[in-house]
Formats: sequence, C-alpha cells, structure tokens
Amino acid sequence: MLNKELTRTLYKECQSLSLLYVEDERDLSEAMVMTLREFFASVSVAYNGQEGLALYEKSDFDIVLTDLMMPVMNGREMSRQIRLLNPEQSIIVLSAHEESAYLMELIEIGVYKFVQKPSNLKELSEALLSAAIQVNYKKKASLHADETKAHLAESRELLRNIIDTVPVRIFWKDVDSRYLGCNTLFAKDAGFDTQDALLGKNDFELSWEDKAQAYIDDDREVMQAGSEKINYEELQPHLNGKTRWLNTSKTPLRNEKNEIVGVLGTYSDITAQKEAALAIEKAKEALVYQANYDTLTGLPNRVLFLDRLSQALKKSSRNASRAAVVFIDLDRFKEINDSLGHEVGDLVIKLLAERLKEQLRQGDTLARFGGDEFLLLLENIAEAGEVAEVVEKLIFCMQIPFEVKEHTLHLSLSAGISIFPDDGNSPETLIRNADTAMYTAKDEGRSTYSFYTTAMTEKTLSGMLMSKNIHHALENKEFMVYYQAQIDAQTKSFLGMEALIRWKNSEGKFISPADFIPVAEACGLIHHIGNYVFEEACRQITQWHAKGYGPGRMAINMSAIELQREDFVENMKNTMSAIGCRSEWIELEITEGYTMKHPRAAITMLHEIKELGIRLSVDDFGTGYSSLSYLTKLPVHKLKIDQSFICEVPGNNNNEAIVESIISLARAMRFDVIAEGVETAQQEEFLLQKGCHNMQGYFYARPMPAEEMEKFILQYQQSKI
Ligand code: C2E
Ligand code: CA
Ligand code: CA
Repeated sequence: MLNKELTRTLYKECQSLSLLYVEDERDLSEAMVMTLREFFASVSVAYNGQEGLALYEKSDFDIVLTDLMMPVMNGREMSRQIRLLNPEQSIIVLSAHEESAYLMELIEIGVYKFVQKPSNLKELSEALLSAAIQVNYKKKASLHADETKAHLAESRELLRNIIDTVPVRIFWKDVDSRYLGCNTLFAKDAGFDTQDALLGKNDFELSWEDKAQAYIDDDREVMQAGSEKINYEELQPHLNGKTRWLNTSKTPLRNEKNEIVGVLGTYSDITAQKEAALAIEKAKEALVYQANYDTLTGLPNRVLFLDRLSQALKKSSRNASRAAVVFIDLDRFKEINDSLGHEVGDLVIKLLAERLKEQLRQGDTLARFGGDEFLLLLENIAEAGEVAEVVEKLIFCMQIPFEVKEHTLHLSLSAGISIFPDDGNSPETLIRNADTAMYTAKDEGRSTYSFYTTAMTEKTLSGMLMSKNIHHALENKEFMVYYQAQIDAQTKSFLGMEALIRWKNSEGKFISPADFIPVAEACGLIHHIGNYVFEEACRQITQWHAKGYGPGRMAINMSAIELQREDFVENMKNTMSAIGCRSEWIELEITEGYTMKHPRAAITMLHEIKELGIRLSVDDFGTGYSSLSYLTKLPVHKLKIDQSFICEVPGNNNNEAIVESIISLARAMRFDVIAEGVETAQQEEFLLQKGCHNMQGYFYARPMPAEEMEKFILQYQQSKI
C-alpha cells in the first residue's frame, strides 16, 4: 500500500500531466488505468507498441508508461521511435523479467526508468513521481524561458519603437563605415523606405555621395580616437535638392570586450533653427543698413558719415594729414519739389547722388545728409587746391541737364568746404563750418563754392550787429579812403598807390577792413562800400593828375562779390566818365579765390575790364589755389606777393623759396610783380636781389589820408629831382 504522504505528493505532481499507458495484458491494464486515472489529468491506453506510437504521434504526453514484451511492436522499439520524435520524452518501462540485454539497450535509448513486473506499486509510484517531478520542472523551466523570450522580444520592440520615434536620426556602422542599422527617419533621409535596404551599404551608395568621404573621415576619426565627437554642425545635401543643416554627434561603438566595432551616429535637422537665426541675422543687417544708409540713394546717411568722419579725423591726427568736409546743397530744390511734386524731387535726388558719385574716387565718402543736402569727406588732402578741384568737378558735372520723366531740369549746386584741422577739430564743428561756408557760396550767387574762414563764424555771430552798423556808417559818412604808396625801389620812382578803406565809427574808433569787409560781403553792403571807394579813389587820382603831381596809378581792391554783378563793368565805366578819370590811371586788385572759383565768368568779365584799358593785379598771390593753366588764360598784368611771405624774408627758407619762385613765375609769364608788406631795408635788399623792384609797405609809407598822401607825393618827387 502506498503511504499517505507519497499518495498526496504523487497526486499533486501528476494532476496536470498526461500519461500514455501501453500494456497488452487487458486485465492488468484495466486495473492499472483505474488507479492511474485517480492521479493523472488524462490517461490514454494502447495495447501494443504500434498503437502506442500512433497515439503518441497524434498528441503530446508528459509521461509514457509501457510494458516491454508486447505483440506487433514491443516496448523497446516503441520507446526508440518515441525518443526519435522527442529526445526529451520521459518513458518508464515495466518489464516482467530481468532482461539485462534489453535493459542496456533501454538505457541507451534514454528510457527514464524501468520497473519490475508484476508491479510493485510502491516502486512504480516512486518512478512515476520522480518522472512527474522532472517533467514539471522542465515544463516550468521552459515556461520561464518562453516568458523571458517574450519579454526580450517585447523590450526589443520597445527599443525599436523608441529609435523610430525619437525626432533624431540614428545610425550605426561597422569599422568599414558600412551601415549596420538605422532608424526610419535616417533611412528616409538616405532615400529608403525601410531600414533593411540600407544594411551593408556605405555613404557612397546613398543620396549624399558628395559628402560621403567627409562622413567616412569623421567615422575614422571617432573610431581611431576612441572618443566621441559631439554636437558639430554640418551641411547635408538633401534629396529634395535643399541643403540642410545638421547637428551631428558620433561616438565609437564597442562590443562586450570593449573593442571598437563601429560607430554610432545621431543627428538632428537644425535647418529651421539655422534659417531662423539667419533670418534674424538678415533682419539685423537690414536694421543696421537702415540705420546707416539712406534708402533713396543707397548712400551712407548722417549717422554713418559722422562715424566715418570721426575715424578719418583720428587717422588724420595720427598721420598729421588733412581732411576736408564738403557740404553740398542743391540750388532751388524746393522749387522743383513744390512745382513738380515729391516724386520728381526724389528722382532728382537719386540721379544727383549717382552723378556726384561718378565724379569721386573710391576712398571718398559721399553721404546724404537729408533733403537735398549731401556731405562729402575727402581724406589725405595735401593742399586746399585739391579739394577745390574735386568740388569744381562736382559743380561742372551739373551742367548736363537732368532728364526726369518728361522734364529737362537745369540744376546747380553750392558747396562749402571746411578743412581739418584748420577749421575745426570735431566732426560737428567741421560740418557746421562747411555748412556756413555753403551759405556764403549761396550768397555769392549759387553754383559756386566757398572755403570756410574764421571770419565766417564771426560773421554769423556778430554779423547782424555789424551789418546794421555798416548801414549806419554809410549814411553817416564814417568811411574814408587812405592811400599807401607803391615805389620802384630800383629807380626810386613813385609808381602809384593802393586805396584802402578806413572806418572811423561814431566813437572815433578805427575798425579794421579785415573785420568788416567779410560782413559787408555777406550782407550785400559790399557794393555800396565798393562803389564809394571806387568813386573816391577815381576822383582823387583824377584830381592829382589834373594838378600834374604825377601820382601814377591807383590800385583799388575789388571783392569777389562785387565782380559778380552783371552791371559791374558798366558802373565803372559810368563812374570814370562822370569824373573824367582815365582808365590807364586805374588798376584793380582781385584775389585769386574769385578767379579760380569762377574761371569762366571771371575770364569774360576780366577781359571786358581789360578792354576798358584798366589793369589787373592778383592780390595776395601765393595764398590761394591758382592753377597755372588758369593763370595763363587770365588777362592779368601783375602779381602781388602776399605780405605773409615777405614778413619773414630774409631768414625763413621756405618763404624765401616761395618769393623767389613767384618772382621767376611772373618773369616767365611776363607779369609785373610787386611785394607788399615791406617793412625793412633787408627785405628791400632781398627783393631787389631776386629781381622784384616794386614795393609797398611801412618801410616807405603807411596808408594815409589824401592830404598827407598829396604831401608825400610832392616830397618824393622833389627828393628825386
Ligand atoms: P590787402 O589788399 O592785402 O591790403 C594790404 C593790407 O596790408 C592793408 O591792410 C595795409 O594797411 C596793410 N599793410 C600795408 N603795408 C604793410 C606793412 O608794411 N606791414 C603790415 N603789417 N601791413 C601792411 P588794411 O588796410 O587793414 O586792409 C586789410 C584788407 O582789407 C586788405 O588787404 C583788403 O583785402 C581789404 N580792403 C581794404 N580796403 C578795401 C576796399 O576798399 N575794398 C575791398 N574790397 N577790400 C578792401
Ligand atoms: Ca590789396
Ligand atoms: Ca594783399
């Protein structure tokens, strides 16, 4: 009998197992089946090996229990065939005898246990229990293995999903840079629908073959260094033809032994960010452009000009060089705007900007200051004449009319010039002074230019007051004319004199013509002053000639402004004929500035004067910007060497050289030459030595009123005799 414990255990272990029972003895079989069914979940019965095998082939059994000796097919053969079908099958054999030869064979077949027949129930139970325990263990183990496998498959799937869902391209390659795998996004970038299509390929076979070598070089670098290369930006030609920006990282791929077996790469498409950054950059540039350039003309604006100017001033201070600021203003632009409209006005400004630009050199900065005002910066100026040349070109280029829409517009411009450091040290001062000079040019009758002089600032400051006083002085007859003798120091003969205006105001104070002439020029009173001096001087020289004193020629200063009056020559003629003054008694002193600025107008006008028989002398010669070519075209008789050169000769080498060269220039061009401001015997001697005989200065006589001059002439003539 089985003990309770064994029964319970057997029951527990077998209750879920299936048993195939093969036994040819019917009685035994029936009895056994009854018992076995109490323990096993199912028991199938066969009566010989062949039947048993047939059942076995149809369904699975956890344990096979079989008799050995049976008809048709014995237990040994059946066991062998079952083991072929399932080498793991647990088989228990019952045998009536100790058939040892069989037993050995059975062991070889792998039969699990054999039990002596007639069955010892306990022995059989123990064999069944042992088999059941083992079957159950295996079942459990394989169940576990299945679970692990399922688990693994699940996590692989998860990983795959993650790899495919992250918005990052992922790929990994072997040591030869052949693709081992990638995610779907990457496959799509490479031009494939599935990841598998990429396997084994290298970059040369993909859509970005142009970049392949670079990519492969990167792989090598990472693998050789054994360290990652993180977050670098690169360009990738994309299938859609657009190049994209990538942020790439590559890291070496290692196996369990920590050997490098390839490279793992990831990148994200940062084209959008890049484009946004680029757009911002462009917008910034546009803003910078707008802040620095004028939209209509494309020229630098006020802001940029100021910047360039202050840079230029710094540079000029370092190099001790000069720079010029030219303030340019279109004449009568307001009239165009008002009569033809702003659209035409804008077109004019645009065309003007282009035209001016054409006249300039690469390094010159032309800027639009606003409205019809332009600013020009010229650097590395050796002498003011250079600036004058450029500005003349600008004024000249305006002679071609502007064709705007159906209109033909004749335009002109006025310009004012200030020079660093002479006329100011700061951008603001230079611009302001150039502006002031520009207004002077406008006053001079437009289509002209003017250099800034300090007198101009004084003019703007005290000009208003002064001009009122000049009015007053004219009415009160506060002006008078003084005369300064001109001598031929070689022959000691009296040549003539220069008429110099004097103003003794109501308080009895003398005001220097150097102070009030510029104001009179600016406010238009110069014509009255000029007329007064001319008439007075003509009257005086005529009187002295009439008296037979031999006073020689009367030199009269002419302001540039006076010469611009169309009726200037006519007026002179009338005055002289009313007085009975002969033209050969008169000489006009004009400054270089006027003739150089208005060469055409000047040439015509000066020829008319010459026709009258009046002589012309160039005053303050050497201080202006005369060009020789102009000088040859002018009907000039005489050059008057400026006193600033005389005052330091002999002794100042530079001035000596200038004086000498003016003298030889005059000789070469057959001009007379006279030196003014001669104060010493040494100066006289120097000048005589160099070939200049005509002198004027305190050494001979100061400017003096008519009565004194009369005595001077008489004395001088007498002393000669
Ligand atoms: P400017 O035409 O160069 O006249 C010569 C100036 O030198 C005069 O000054 C004269 O007094 C001064 N001078 C003459 N000899 C000597 C000398 O030996 N040493 C020194 N240090 N100075 C000498 P002034 O009379 O004060 O006239 C100044 C300027 O005013 C003139 O320079 C001229 O440009 C202008 N001016 C004078 N009278 C008239 C005039 O009637 N009409 C016009 N438009 N301008 C005039
Ligand atoms: Ca003079
Ligand atoms: Ca002079």
